[in-house]
Amino acid sequence: MLMWNNPAFDDHEKVTLIHDVRSGLAAVIALHSTHLGPGAGGTRFWHYPDRDDAVTDALRLSQGMSYKNAMADLPMGGGKAVIIADAQATKTPEMLAAFGKAVEALGGQYVTAEDVGMSEQDMVRIAAHTTHVTGLPVQGEHSAGGDPSPFTAMGIYLGLAAAVQHRLGREDLAGVHVVIQGTGSVGGRLARLLARDGARLTLGDVDAKRAQALAAELGAEAVSADRIMSVPCDVFSPNALGAILDDHGIEQLRTQIVAGGANNQLARPEHGRILEENGVLYTPDYVLNAGGIISVAIEYLARQDGRIAEREEVVGRIEQIPNRLREIWSESESTGRTPSAVADAMARARLGRA
Ligand code: NAD
Repeated sequence: MLMWNNPAFDDHEKVTLIHDVRSGLAAVIALHSTHLGPGAGGTRFWHYPDRDDAVTDALRLSQGMSYKNAMADLPMGGGKAVIIADAQATKTPEMLAAFGKAVEALGGQYVTAEDVGMSEQDMVRIAAHTTHVTGLPVQGEHSAGGDPSPFTAMGIYLGLAAAVQHRLGREDLAGVHVVIQGTGSVGGRLARLLARDGARLTLGDVDAKRAQALAAELGAEAVSADRIMSVPCDVFSPNALGAILDDHGIEQLRTQIVAGGANNQLARPEHGRILEENGVLYTPDYVLNAGGIISVAIEYLARQDGRIAEREEVVGRIEQIPNRLREIWSESESTGRTPSAVADAMARARLGRA
C-alpha cells in the first residue's frame, strides 16, 4: 500500500524503510513530528506476517509518541522503529549493528530506546554504532537510565491515585479495589506499589502462573485472563495489550475508572465517548504511561550535554503527571468533550497541528 493512502498516515515527516541484505535486517523508522525536538520512541521487535502491517504499526506508534512526548513537556518529537522479525524471532548482533547504523544515518532526527522485544543489552549493541540511543544501563545509584518500566509504573500509580481522588473523593488507596490486567514489567510493579498502600487487588494474566505467584506474594486474588475485564471494581487498570476498549471490552467493564499503562487502549476514538456515557472516568493512556519515556529522554538529553541524568529530575517530572490529568478532566467537564478528545487536542496544539 502507498504510504500516503495508509489510514495511519498523519502527515508524518519521514518514513524510512531499511533492508540490509547482509544481516537480514528489515525495519521501518517512522518520524511523525520533530516540531518539539528529535523524534523519540522505542524500537519494537515483532513478527508481522504482512510487512504493510509493520509500516502501519510504525506510523501509528510514532504518532502516539508525538502526543506522549508533547504532553509530558519533553523537548522531543515523536518517532518509532519496528524491526520485522522472522517467524523464529531471530535477532543477531549483525542486525542490531545494521539498525544502529540506520539510526545514525538519520543524524539525530530519531532517538531510539527499548520497546516490546528489545532489551537493555540490545541498546548497548546499537550504541556501538550511534549516539542516538537511550535506555542504556544505569551509571550510579542516583542516576537515571536503564529499564524504563519502573518509571512507567510510578507515573501510572500517581495518576491512578489522582483518578481515585477525582472520581471517588478518596485521599488514599486503602481498600480501593484495583483490577490489573497484565502483571508483566509494568503491571507487576504497579501491583506492588498499590499493595503497599493497602489497595485490594485482583490480578489477571494470560500467563496464569505469573498472576498467581504475584497474587500469593501480595495477598491479592488472581482470576483467569478471560474474566479479568468483568470483575466489579473501583479501578480497571489495563497493562497488557492495546485496543482492549472496544464495544465488547467496554460492555464487560464493571468499574468507575480506567487507568492503566497499555498503549492505545481505545480501539477507536469513539470508544472514549462510550466510556463517558457509561459513567467511566478515562485516564488517557499516553499521558498516564509517560514515566518511561520521561526517564529515557532525560537520560538522552543529559548525555548529549556530557552529563549523567539524575533520578531526582526524572521523578520530579513524573510527579507532574497527576496535574496534567487534572487539567484534562477539568477541561473535559467544562466543555463536555471526552478526556481522550481533550488530551488529543492539547497534544496537537503543542505539535503545531491544532
Ligand atoms: P510485559 O511484556 O512485561 O508484560 C505484559 C504482560 O501482559 C505479560 O505478563 C503478558 O503475559 C500479559 N498479557 C498479554 N496478553 C494478555 C491478555 N490478553 N490478558 C492478560 N494479560 C496479558 O510488558 P510491559 O513492559 O509490562 O508493558 C505492558 C503494556 O504497557 C504494553 O502495552 C506496553 O506497550 C505498555 N507500556 C510499557 C512501558 C514500559 O516502560 N515497559 C511504557 C509505556 C507503555
